Amino acid sequence: MGLMHRANNFVTRKLPLKQARSRLERSLASLTFDDFPKSAWTVAGPIMQRFGARATYYAAGRFCGVSEDGIDYFDAEDLRAAHRAGHEIGAHSYAHRMAPSVGSTELAADADRNAEALGEILGGVRLSSYAYPYGEASPRSKALMGRRFASARGIRPGVNAGRIDLAQLLAVPIEHRRWRPDEIQAAAREARARNGWLILFTHDVGDQPSPFGCTPQMLTEVLEILAAETIPVVPVKHAMAEAVFGTRAD
Ligand SMILES: [Zn+2]
Repeated sequence: MGLMHRANNFVTRKLPLKQARSRLERSLASLTFDDFPKSAWTVAGPIMQRFGARATYYAAGRFCGVSEDGIDYFDAEDLRAAHRAGHEIGAHSYAHRMAPSVGSTELAADADRNAEALGEILGGVRLSSYAYPYGEASPRSKALMGRRFASARGIRPGVNAGRIDLAQLLAVPIEHRRWRPDEIQAAAREARARNGWLILFTHDVGDQPSPFGCTPQMLTEVLEILAAETIPVVPVKHAMAEAVFGTRAD
């Protein structure tokens, strides 16, 4: 990691843009799928249903109906079906480029394009939760997305508790390339102990997942860990509202 990159990360992390004191009086978890690979719905949907878990899908319009690098992405019907089943559709930009390398005007236009494309498929639904493509934010993109969306999630690991940064929510990976159920267990315990909000993220789900995805067994194990700690799994927008306003959506 270069010096500029480290400096950028440092400034972005410190930027007190949307910090809030969490008002959670219980622990919560959010399961999030980045890019919305089709299997995150077709394979993961039935598993989540067994646990009564509802997820957030951070969808990028460019991937709609596309197969790329061996991954089939969501189509319009997947998007509608996941939404109908009570899962949240979040925003993940349209073009899925690294935000720090894109100008502000272009970033805003790209977010508009995504909102329009996905909103049209979903009959006017407004996307209020955002995840940075590749988890990469700069002070500029953090300010822009922090203003635009109720929350923005990165890929810095940790539990959101105490003072939380709504423009850079922490999230723990569920990844085949680095499968560490002990870390997820520890994070769940921490969330339980601190009335924290544990956000998990993954991509595709299948028997032979990409390095950034997981198997059905891994997803099941994560949901079993959360169930054992009695941590409800709710969409990001619901957890956000409860953490900020103290209102329970379910
Ligand atoms: Zn992505």
